[in-house]
Amino acid sequence: MDRTQRCGRCNAGSTPTEGTFDMDNYIKKNVGWILIMVLAIIPVLRWFFVMPLNFRFANIALIATSLGQITGILGMILFALNLIIASKFKFIDRLFFGIPDALNIHSKIGAIGFCLILFHPILLVAKYFYFSIESMAMFFIPQGFDAVSFGIYALVLMILIMVLTLYIKLKYQVWLFSHRFLVLAFVFAVLHSFLIQSDISRDLFLRYYILGFSFFALALSLYNFLSDKIFFKALEYNIIRVQKLAENITQIELEPKYRALKFSPGQFVFVKFISDNLSSESHPFSISSNANNKNIELTIKGLGDFTKKIGNLKIGDKAFVKGPFGKFSFLEFPNKDQVWISGGIGITPFLSMARSLELGKTNQKVNLYYCVKNKSEAILLDELLQIEKNNKHFKVITWFSEEKGQITAEKIVELSNGFANKEIFLCGPVSFMDNLRLQFNKLGVKNINIHWEKFSF
Ligand SMILES: Cc1cc2nc3c(=O)[nH]c(=O)nc-3n(C[C@H](O)[C@H](O)[C@H](O)COP(=O)(O)OP(=O)(O)OC[C@H]3O[C@@H](n4cnc5c(N)ncnc54)[C@H](O)[C@@H]3O)c2cc1C
Repeated sequence: MDRTQRCGRCNAGSTPTEGTFDMDNYIKKNVGWILIMVLAIIPVLRWFFVMPLNFRFANIALIATSLGQITGILGMILFALNLIIASKFKFIDRLFFGIPDALNIHSKIGAIGFCLILFHPILLVAKYFYFSIESMAMFFIPQGFDAVSFGIYALVLMILIMVLTLYIKLKYQVWLFSHRFLVLAFVFAVLHSFLIQSDISRDLFLRYYILGFSFFALALSLYNFLSDKIFFKALEYNIIRVQKLAENITQIELEPKYRALKFSPGQFVFVKFISDNLSSESHPFSISSNANNKNIELTIKGLGDFTKKIGNLKIGDKAFVKGPFGKFSFLEFPNKDQVWISGGIGITPFLSMARSLELGKTNQKVNLYYCVKNKSEAILLDELLQIEKNNKHFKVITWFSEEKGQITAEKIVELSNGFANKEIFLCGPVSFMDNLRLQFNKLGVKNINIHWEKFSF
């Protein structure tokens, strides 16, 4: 056994995750999931009391119908909750431990909801199987604008959008546009659920519960759409610096025109630039400046159509900044030592955190791993070393993969003396974070002590 392996094991034995259960952290990270489950289960529980169960489950055909009703109710409520999460409102950011985590849950409950909605008509028409396949198929042919037809329109629209999402690689803006049609599918689904004779139309509680969620979801979706398209509710800034740091990395400094944004180091914003040289799409970027500064700095790597043109921005161009969003901040865990691990451009939230270390209430010890291919890519190293010089609790560890290969969790355990009472922060390419997270898990570190910021939703 080599030295690293031995060290990895002995330190894994002293992680905070073994033997103790970090309840605070667990609740913080899972409250959104728990809430979704409770809200989804309430109407199903109610359904069980609307009619005697011996009637609902008397024979195979009734069992299929009952399961069809349950999948319909659950699918409908998950669909509504999904639209609520997608609205990316501030309360969603807080409930789900940040928008990226919320959107991750959004895609999971989207998939579950979609399957349920798919099974809903299949189970309901199963009873016609006794007669003929044709009579089952007839059920799926819309007849105009009646309750059943609205359900079919909703289903077809959902299937089309899901096929586009899952099987065709669309450009982000096209994908976003196609996703907006889900709201139309939801409108059809709402019309279907309230026009059709069912438990929802018979039982007041079910009716108002589902109606309430449906209207809330539609109102948030509408507001979100209008606020993006018409009154992009954001703070106005002017660009006062556009600086090329490397071939494909540009730093931009924004000065508030009126009010400055208040943010925690590590958080991100949606920015829309108004410039002759760049389209006015809104994109998410982590803030890389000190949270005490009124100006905002963004450090952007040219990866796609939009970001490759970011260097075309000019001093004096306008920017609208919406946010801040996210919980990826050392301030969330004030009493813990920390290990920050960045891969490539994933250094940006850590730059903000390093520049804002004085905001920490305690003398947390922080080890920052700056992982890039080679020294020429470590463009922010000089500043980070300067911060290290002025703060005895902050240590920068560079890792050049061209010299040493990919960094491993065991190596980090060795260099940072284990993980007892520490929180781990990861930001970098998805495969880099997934790999490290799994390696940490194998060493006994639980996911509730690992925090990651994905640079894609
Ligand atoms: C929370 C967060 C923080 C980020 N911080 C930084 C940062 O500090 N520095 C940096 O260089 N990059 C950052 N990014 C990534 C940056 O947003 C994307 O690189 C950029 O949006 C890509 O746009 P594109 O058109 O150039 O590339 P494309 O090739 O069109 O897109 C690449 C991927 O980026 C995502 N994306 C594209 N457009 C959008 C959009 N309008 N909204 C949301 N996601 C989109 C999609 O997942 C897409 O697959 C961050 C992303 C997120 C989610």
